Amino acid sequence: MAISFAMPERVERERMMAQALAEGIMRPVSRQLDENEHERPVDFIKLIWPVMRDQQARALDRLKAPPDQEKEKKPRSPYLAMMVQIEALSWGDAGQYLCIPSPLLAGAAIEAVGTPEQKERFLRRFAEGDAPRWGAMAMTEPNAGSDTKAIETTAVLDPETHEWILNGEKIFITSGGLALRESDGIVVVWATIDRSAGRAGMRPFVVEAGTPGVTVSKPEIKHGIRASDTVSIKFENCRIPYDNLLGDPEVRREGSREGFRGAMATFDASRPLVAASALGVGRAALEFVKETLHQHGIDIPYDQPYHKLSAIQRDVLEMEAQLKAAYLLTLRATAMLDEGLRNSLEASMAKAKAGKAVTKVTQKAVELLGMMGYSREWLVEKWMRDARINDIYEGTGQINLLIVARRILGYSSSELS
Ligand SMILES: Cc1cc2nc3c(=O)[nH]c(=O)nc-3n(C[C@H](O)[C@H](O)[C@H](O)COP(=O)(O)OP(=O)(O)OC[C@H]3O[C@@H](n4cnc5c(N)ncnc54)[C@H](O)[C@@H]3O)c2cc1C
Repeated sequence: MAISFAMPERVERERMMAQALAEGIMRPVSRQLDENEHERPVDFIKLIWPVMRDQQARALDRLKAPPDQEKEKKPRSPYLAMMVQIEALSWGDAGQYLCIPSPLLAGAAIEAVGTPEQKERFLRRFAEGDAPRWGAMAMTEPNAGSDTKAIETTAVLDPETHEWILNGEKIFITSGGLALRESDGIVVVWATIDRSAGRAGMRPFVVEAGTPGVTVSKPEIKHGIRASDTVSIKFENCRIPYDNLLGDPEVRREGSREGFRGAMATFDASRPLVAASALGVGRAALEFVKETLHQHGIDIPYDQPYHKLSAIQRDVLEMEAQLKAAYLLTLRATAMLDEGLRNSLEASMAKAKAGKAVTKVTQKAVELLGMMGYSREWLVEKWMRDARINDIYEGTGQINLLIVARRILGYSSSELS
């Protein structure tokens, strides 16, 4: 597949708008929101909601368009546009970016496995109104983190009312409170309809705000991305309509991963976007280091051989190289999404590389800037804390490397775990 490195004009315009928002609205309150965890980035949310809402409206309209018109109306590279916007917003502040009012991961799951009717029913709320809305995705449980097949939340069909009854607890859910408590949003909840079937029994269900039997806990207190909302959600005899199941209710055994395919398709779409967020934090740190060194008379001579550079200059070059490598992998995974190609391998490669790169780059930034790097006066120490999550959620670094190894070597998850 050929990849063009020329950024389409429309995408570049959107990137510049996101960068302006990051500079003008997010950065000025970055430290304040880090110090006051659980305070919302109200100005960012207010400004970005109409943009997100109108984007969602256009996406839903395209779904309704007849097939021949659909192709014509479809923007050429929606995932590329998302990638560059997320990178720019995360340069501004990764925690605030995660408060973006949109279907977020719930949207990725619905897009991946929902029917056109479900897309309209669940996503329309993100395309209208003055009040912002959020979506979230709930997979993780107290006894099921990386090992997703261990989930214990159950969905049992009541044959009389034809409703699913959910019971269980989900933890560390990004934007769960915003979706269920602070707006008329949705959460896509992964539950098992047959525990004995392992992954084949897992299914995603949409739970709407206001559904009885749902309790949102108090928000987590975190190491980084402190502006982001992270909560636990309990489901106690929570009844939802039959049609809130995304995908096929039939459980096929004999090694089938049918149910889990929806999760994989969701992660294939979301991992490059997490990588993009990591890249934004990394760029923030790299630019700041270069600027600060420049003020001290140290520049990076790109035309000099490596052995003529100082240790600091080499460190900066290494930071740039790591971020550039992660950028190229992310671009590839994203371009494949836009082309409708299967990208599980590339998505995991991008996520694993970007997660590691941003962790190293931000640590190096703190190191190179000495005591001021460590001080809360500058944002560098915050970027180092914000960076760490990128190697944890949406599959840890180790889990993504396992996926890469399985894909390259042709092993199944039971053969290589
Ligand atoms: C801020 C934040 C936001 C989050 N948001 C969400 C969300 O919106 N929705 C959601 O569902 N979840 C969310 N999570 C949960 C996140 O996805 C999990 O933390 C992650 O999947 C890892 O699970 P765990 O924490 O239980 O770690 P574990 O799975 O217990 O892993 C612990 C360590 O062991 C390693 N490990 C585990 N298995 C293997 C293996 N087979 N081979 C090698 N190493 C292995 C891991 O890489 C890790 O280093 C969030 C977490 C955080 C911290």
